[in-house]
Amino acid sequence: MIPASRLVEEANPACAQCHGKERFETPQLAWAVWQKMPRRSIRQVYRCEQCGGWHIGEVRS
Ligand SMILES: [Zn+2]
Repeated sequence: MIPASRLVEEANPACAQCHGKERFETPQLAWAVWQKMPRRSIRQVYRCEQCGGWHIGEVRS
């Protein structure tokens, strides 16, 4: 019997985008949280192709 968690991992092999990040249902919600964050680093709100939600990620140059 295969654990359910393994099935999820196999279905989303590139889910590293989601790892350790908050997931938001709408971009409006993500931007609202983004505005409260410290501006030490440049961040972006992007749509995740893996989970279909929205994440806030840091932009590193
Ligand atoms: Zn995601």
